[in-house]
Amino acid sequence: MNKPAMPNSFRTGPDEQGMFGIFGGRFVAETLMPLILDLEDQWNKAKTDPEFKAELQNLSTHYAGRPSKLYFAEGLTKHLRDVSSAKGLGGGAKVYFKREDLNHTGSHKINNCLGQILLAKRMGKKRIIAETGAGQHGVASATVAARFGYPCVVYMGATDVARQSPNVFRMKLLGAEVRPVTAGHGTLKDAMNEALRDWVTNVEDTYYLIGTAAGPHPYPELVRDFQSVIGTEARAQILEQEGRLPDVIIAAVGGGSNAIGLFHPFLDDKDVRIIGIEAGGRGLDGVEHCASMNAGKPGVLHGNRTYLLQNADGQILDGHSISAGLDYPGVGPEHSWLRDSGRVEYVPILDDEALEAFQLTTRVEGIIPALESAHAIAHAVKIVPKMDKDQIVIVNLSGRGDKDVHTVANMLGMEI
Ligand SMILES: *Cc1c(COP(=O)(O)O)cnc(C)c1O
Repeated sequence: MNKPAMPNSFRTGPDEQGMFGIFGGRFVAETLMPLILDLEDQWNKAKTDPEFKAELQNLSTHYAGRPSKLYFAEGLTKHLRDVSSAKGLGGGAKVYFKREDLNHTGSHKINNCLGQILLAKRMGKKRIIAETGAGQHGVASATVAARFGYPCVVYMGATDVARQSPNVFRMKLLGAEVRPVTAGHGTLKDAMNEALRDWVTNVEDTYYLIGTAAGPHPYPELVRDFQSVIGTEARAQILEQEGRLPDVIIAAVGGGSNAIGLFHPFLDDKDVRIIGIEAGGRGLDGVEHCASMNAGKPGVLHGNRTYLLQNADGQILDGHSISAGLDYPGVGPEHSWLRDSGRVEYVPILDDEALEAFQLTTRVEGIIPALESAHAIAHAVKIVPKMDKDQIVIVNLSGRGDKDVHTVANMLGMEI
């Protein structure tokens, strides 16, 4: 059988139906269809409107703190060169961090929230709803809702509400209402279902602010476009600082928004190797991981077709990761397509490997990375010693790790 021809560009998707090859689409209730079409129409107008772009640019600069720095991680580079020498390899590429941890609210999530709140304003919506797992997207949504004076309801699984109390309190301080969801296992998947249900019943006045590059079309595309500022900046910064493109770029994949944001501007640079990191949890043999692309199957969830963690009967599994932000049983549809087309490699990293990279980065760089980002760093730790000294790796430091110190203490058997 002939393989389908490779596209000339990996940056043209999705098509008018919201498909990336066989992935994506908009599998939603009939009542939502007019809203989804309206959102798509408004987004198409907004993205070419100079006024919209100027307002987003202004907030990105003065409120969120962009552009984020591209930092030469000299301490980690030196450490990995020592490792390389000890193994008799004599190599070790230069490692750079794209510092999304320095953004307001401590991660890349603000990029998407600022874009979408401006879209909600443009559409004349009166109320914001959002879903959250660990609470990071809930906090970022509550932040922009506070800034723009919108009432905000955040759906959060009851199990997550119990284990993420500092973020629940932050959302309340910011004026949001947190609604615990008891359906299912009370986690992110259930919160997302409940948010979609709210949207169906309050179609006129409500804007649904989705937190990752997933959900029905046009969300995967518009979230990607708002997050692509990461890759656009990184590409210009590395050309400025090194005079050439990187050899490898790496990012952690939960739903996939920080990763597609870094990757998208590099997709047509054929010599740049692109690696997405999934949560390997306690290993891919059992069910305690979140590696939907390495151990899942295509199916439909939250309005789109994509790789999902499922059992033999097609039931969606909850998954597990040390890092709450990677704990989503699916992945954005564009990643599924990039996986199958072979343009991007997706590799699992175990809890223990991420924990080690977290500690190493903290010690040799004086930067406490988010556990999600530590997954990406852990992969760099594996491959950089085998690379040449004149090669360059960019790791997306998607967020800061202050939120994770309790989890880490727990894993290390320490009390704070
Ligand atoms: C939420 C989060 C992620 C995972 O979400 P994506 O949509 O895959 O980017 C990764 N890193 C941090 C710091 C996060 O807060």
